[in-house]
Amino acid sequence: MLIDGEWVEARSGRWREVTSPAHRGTVLARVPEADREDIDRAVTAARAALGPWRAQHFKTRQRALGKIADAIEARAEELARTTAADTGNALRTEARPEVATLVDLFRYFAGVAGEVKGTTLPAGDGQLQYTRLEPLGVVGAIVPWNSPLAIVGFKIPAALAAGNTVVLKAAEDAPLSVLQLAQICAEHLPAGVLNVLSGDGRVAGAALVEHPGIDKISFTGSTEVGRVVARSAGERLIHASLELGGKSPSIVFPDAVDDQLIDGLLLSTRFFRQGQSCTAGTRLFLHEEIHDEVVEKLVARLRTLTVGDPLDEASDMGAVINEKQFDAVRAYLDDGRAQAGMTAAIGGTAPSDGPLANGLYHIPTVFTGARNDFRLAREEIFGPVLVAIRWRDRDEVIRMANDSNYGLAAYVWTGDLDQALTTAHRLEAGWVQVNQGGGQVVGQSYGGYKDSGLGREVSLEGMLAGFTQTKQINVRLRG
Ligand code: NAD
Repeated sequence: MLIDGEWVEARSGRWREVTSPAHRGTVLARVPEADREDIDRAVTAARAALGPWRAQHFKTRQRALGKIADAIEARAEELARTTAADTGNALRTEARPEVATLVDLFRYFAGVAGEVKGTTLPAGDGQLQYTRLEPLGVVGAIVPWNSPLAIVGFKIPAALAAGNTVVLKAAEDAPLSVLQLAQICAEHLPAGVLNVLSGDGRVAGAALVEHPGIDKISFTGSTEVGRVVARSAGERLIHASLELGGKSPSIVFPDAVDDQLIDGLLLSTRFFRQGQSCTAGTRLFLHEEIHDEVVEKLVARLRTLTVGDPLDEASDMGAVINEKQFDAVRAYLDDGRAQAGMTAAIGGTAPSDGPLANGLYHIPTVFTGARNDFRLAREEIFGPVLVAIRWRDRDEVIRMANDSNYGLAAYVWTGDLDQALTTAHRLEAGWVQVNQGGGQVVGQSYGGYKDSGLGREVSLEGMLAGFTQTKQINVRLRG
């Protein structure tokens, strides 16, 4: 782990094994199991580093972030292979693009480092009234396993560019590429500015959230744990931003069927990442006129996907993260098959023999005949499973789309601009895409409505709102 510029083990001497999603029972590595004492050391180091780091001209922070971006780029393949190995995400379709996004994020926040600036009020010649955007202080960052590098990229460069120092806890199941990234960062940052630990959420994560030396928690993970984090932050009145779960609607209008629709829909399902994405468009609302045609075309496209070893260039989809997640997805499939009215147009069961049975592989599943109040339409599955729901009337589909506790992302598919924008404006989601289904792009605003979270990241405004606080200074000029 990286604490105060040094590579250290856990003080307790305890380790945790990181296992392969692709090959059941294979241990990839062991990493230190941090506890409260290690977190305390890291927070102390981050606090000691804060004064000098925040006092610098922004160009110094900018230069460091720019060098990190270059260094990541130089080691991109290594990072991609590591993240494919521990997350189970396919190298070609997911891991390499994720590292490219990470590079973009470091470059972007390096570029906007000088935008952390205040305003002056036209308060007359006798007054100088201005604001400074100051860093919050020591930021605790907690990330999940599904796309660890991109999510670290949403937090670390933004927090550092704004003059904060950071203690980051990686996810239990996918810490390896995050620790590799820490190595790269450490070569370009003063000791203590960034500290990166591995450990259990309920031990190291909780210790970080509860530590009195933390000024802000930036958390990405489940809504359930997000509530715990928010309660603790609320108790101590520290800043918190929460990027949580989702069950995103994808609304297809009758005029939308063209050559690009199916590829766009495929991206929006996040099946390339085994559906393990908070922004996956997993409630597919198909207008009744085109329902059967779209299901048929989507299923035909899904049949062409190769599910297999994440490190194999031929694989479009890899493995799900761990046994627990594997079993949870299987339970949803069982539930879906048992649900009266619902049919699996593709998939519906986990592979039980052949090479895929040696790893934690699920194949794509599309259930038709679903209703928005079915369990599979309400709960976040976090696997390659979506439900198709028929609709007839626009008001009705918008009402169904909004009838969810979540509000992270949404997709609208139509060639009619009025239809697209009116629908986008009425959807209760932090991010709506029209006629495309890709992942977050650098600089965009990103965050959820409702149970999907609080706060925004990825963008300049997210950085300013999430990692700075405003100080007003009023001066009487004496002559
Ligand atoms: P999780 O909430 O179980 O864990 C996330 C992180 O929190 C891990 O690092 C974990 O160790 C830590 N943690 C667990 N308990 C904790 C506690 N009591 N105190 C502090 N930290 C604790 O989530 P997960 O299973 O790793 O990830 C999947 C979830 O994350 C899904 O719900 C998904 O939608 C969500 N997610 C959201 C976004 C987003 O941007 N909105 C992105 C990716 C994933």
